[in-house]
Amino acid sequence: MSDTLVRPKRANLQQAVQHHVKQYIIENGHRPGDLLPPESHFAQQLGVSRPNLREAMRALQTMGIVESRQGSGTFVGHFSMDPWLEGMSFSIQTSDDQNALRTLREILEVRAVLERHIIRQTAESITDEQLDMLSELVERMHARADAGETFPQEDMAFHEAMYVSQGNRFIVQLVRTFWQLIAQVDDHLRSIDQELHDVAKMHGAIVEALRKRDPDLAERAMAEHLDGIRERVSRAGWR
Ligand SMILES: [Zn+2]
Repeated sequence: MSDTLVRPKRANLQQAVQHHVKQYIIENGHRPGDLLPPESHFAQQLGVSRPNLREAMRALQTMGIVESRQGSGTFVGHFSMDPWLEGMSFSIQTSDDQNALRTLREILEVRAVLERHIIRQTAESITDEQLDMLSELVERMHARADAGETFPQEDMAFHEAMYVSQGNRFIVQLVRTFWQLIAQVDDHLRSIDQELHDVAKMHGAIVEALRKRDPDLAERAMAEHLDGIRERVSRAGWR
C-alpha cells in the first residue's frame, strides 16, 4: 500500500485517513475482533497528526468499522445496522411532518418489495412446525385485539419468522431495522382508528395461503396486508 497521502483540504484528509485504515484492514485480512496497530502507527505511516487520526478513528467507530476498548486498544468492528438505524431514526424524528411521512412511505415500499419476494419462497419451504407457530401468533393477535390492544410484538415475530426460515441474515437484520423504525413512529399511527381484528385476520389469511403452499395466493395475501399498512400511513394525521 502507498504510504504517501495527498494532504488537501481537511474533509478530504479525513476521508483519506479513513480509507487508508479500511484498506489496511482488508489488505491484512483482518476479521471482526482483531486488534489493530496503535494510533501512533497509522499517524506515522500517513504523516498526519494524532488529533487528525483520532478524529478519523472516531468516525470509523460510528460506522461500526472499528471498535475502541478502553485500555485494550482498537479492534476491527462487528458489522451492524445500528449506526444506519440511528441515522434513519434521527432523520425521521428531526424532519418536518411531510418529510417524515415520505420517508416512512419509502421504507414501506422497500419492505413491500422484500416481503412479497420472500413470502413466495416461504410458501415453498415452510415446515408444518413453522406454520403452527405462525397460527399461534395469529391467535395471540386476536386475543390482544379482544382486549383492545395493538400487537406490534406479535406482528414483528410473525414477519421475522418467515425471514429467519430463509436463512439470509442480512434480510433479517434489514427487516428488523424497518420494524424498529416503524415502531418508533407507531405512536403517531396508533391514534388512527383501525380494526385490530381485521389486521389479525390478514395475518391469518397469509398463514392459510402458506398452508396451501401456494406462492401466488401467499403473495396476494401479503400484498393486501402491506397495502393496509400503507393506507393507514396515508390516512395518518401525522403528529
Ligand atoms: Zn404484519
